[in-house]
Amino acid sequence: MEAFEFTPLAGRVVFGRGTLARVADEVRQLGCSRAFVLSDAHHAKGAATKVMESLGDRAVGLSTDAAMHTPVDVTERVLRRLRAANPDCLVALGGGSTTGLSKALALRTDLPQIVVPTTYAGSEATPILGQTEQGRKTTLRSPQVLPRVIVYDVELTLGMPVHLSVVSGMNAMAHAVEALYARDGNPITSMLAEQGIAALASALPLIAADPRHVDARSDALFGAWACGNCLGTVGMSLHHKLCHTLGGSFDLPHAETHAVILPHAAAFNQSAAPEALARAARALGADKAGAGLFDLATALGAPTSLEAIGMSESDLDKAADEATSAPYWNPRPVDRDAIRQLLDDAYHGRRPSD
Ligand code: NAD
Repeated sequence: MEAFEFTPLAGRVVFGRGTLARVADEVRQLGCSRAFVLSDAHHAKGAATKVMESLGDRAVGLSTDAAMHTPVDVTERVLRRLRAANPDCLVALGGGSTTGLSKALALRTDLPQIVVPTTYAGSEATPILGQTEQGRKTTLRSPQVLPRVIVYDVELTLGMPVHLSVVSGMNAMAHAVEALYARDGNPITSMLAEQGIAALASALPLIAADPRHVDARSDALFGAWACGNCLGTVGMSLHHKLCHTLGGSFDLPHAETHAVILPHAAAFNQSAAPEALARAARALGADKAGAGLFDLATALGAPTSLEAIGMSESDLDKAADEATSAPYWNPRPVDRDAIRQLLDDAYHGRRPSD
């Protein structure tokens, strides 16, 4: 075994079916009695109402304003309502956007968070917060934003549409693929990465065929936690940098962008990180990680080209400039021409050979 460093994340995980009913008890176990509940428009009338009911007089407010990429003006608006309600904890139920709002509020108030994820984005397992202000997205890492408790309820994911399940699942896999070749990678994170990729790669086709397949939903949700944990414990590189640029400056949809770019980022790094990507390929049940991810996306009906998700070809030069303007670590050194070529391949949806 080679030398390594590993800092585990300090969150508690409750995983199962029907665990939504446990949220009130988790609030009590934190020593709290005044929860401010966060959710999104999709869950406003369903699961968010259920949580409010189960909390009873332990709920002191509800906001269903969460929006993609955590806009600071939304956070500040909700913060004013939150301060008036004087809560002692946050309960967030929704996808990565709701978790993002919860983290942004925790950063500003120091309140502990209980997060109930409804997609596979994985944000609940990380001390990372991305926020958008005046069209610019910035990211920070702080233990203050790490949720204290994650309650995974498989039931909440049974109704997730196939498209969202698939792109969100590929978003999760991206965290694990990049963790395998991370500069600060370690054997514990890599073990979770392989397990996370394998769980999602086997579950997503079953979900695409039958969205209410409980065992597959359960495996996928576990995979989402494992992959989120990877993002939380090691640094990311080229793939996340590209998605950050494409989402932030060209307004492309978050999870779809991950699904399109991941096969190309993996193929790009194949020559520089062959062992890491062989582990990813093994977990996928493929010969090569990049080609295997592309084939999986195709089989699942996920978008495979930037063109299909609204990128304009005339923006590829600007995207290549932006993605290479500030130096960052990647297993294969990044230069502008190679990234321009990668983006061209991703734009046209060409299958990588690696
Ligand atoms: P999201 O939370 O915006 O959800 C996408 C849409 O699906 C929304 O309209 C939502 O209402 C709906 N939805 C959520 N769960 C559903 C369900 N079970 N059934 C039906 N509809 C459902 O999107 P997301 O992909 O979960 O998260 C993306 C956001 O998370 C981005 O802002 C991204 O930057 C952030 N993110 C952050 C981290 C981190 O560690 N900080 C990690 C991953 C993603």
